[in-house]
Amino acid sequence: MNTTPTFFLMFRRGIPLIGIALSLMVIWIYPASLGWALLAAVALAAEAVATFGTGGSYLVNRQTTIRWDGYWLQVLRPLFKSINLEDPWLRSFCAWNNRRVSSALSAKKAHKVILLLPHCIQLTKCKSHVVENLQSCFRCGKCVVENAATAALKYNWDVRISPRSRAAYAEARKSRPSLIIAIACPDRLVKGVTKLSEIPSYTIPLEMPHGMCVDTTFDFHRLSQAMITFAELRSTSKIQPLQINTGTWDI
Ligand code: SF4
Repeated sequence: MNTTPTFFLMFRRGIPLIGIALSLMVIWIYPASLGWALLAAVALAAEAVATFGTGGSYLVNRQTTIRWDGYWLQVLRPLFKSINLEDPWLRSFCAWNNRRVSSALSAKKAHKVILLLPHCIQLTKCKSHVVENLQSCFRCGKCVVENAATAALKYNWDVRISPRSRAAYAEARKSRPSLIIAIACPDRLVKGVTKLSEIPSYTIPLEMPHGMCVDTTFDFHRLSQAMITFAELRSTSKIQPLQINTGTWDI
């Protein structure tokens, strides 16, 4: 599912704009309220303006912007949860984040990119130890780990598979990457983006045909496109093709 930022933006930008219009209307109807109504209009204008920052200006103000986007996200989340729209709300936030990160990286690609993948993309019955060593994947083609393992070897991608997203983000923070590309369920993606606001994160939500955390998958083509678009090419001269695990396993 390729969600757009429209849903999130409708509220994030729409509410302040409506608030400004209402404040000006109040001033017009009750001139005596000029002081506080003008103050409210200015504060709301600052909120609305923050949603227009793109490119370099977004990168500079990223932490503050993400903090405020996060407030809007969390304040309205219970409302959308109550009407069964929590998932589209979170996905739309991720799409909004992606749009801004894309605009910021359009001029200069990221030097150091870390890919964070969740362990649940590995087929439940698979016996390979891909968390410890991605190249232990037997490449049976039954899950998307094969694509990740092959691309990591071929293009020297820094791919990390982790059973715990919080630990994965904490580990990634230590490496000080210039971009994180994270694949996870929308809830974990939102947490990663808002809690690790000092590092730009491009997010790809998981597809969960079997429910949460079980045999999940994602659009690998989208990940490849993101790497081509945002990441500087890495040297592949030190790659050891003999690391490929050529064993097999039966389900
Ligand atoms: S061996 Fe097959 S099931 Fe196991 S991780 Fe690799 S591709 Fe997935």
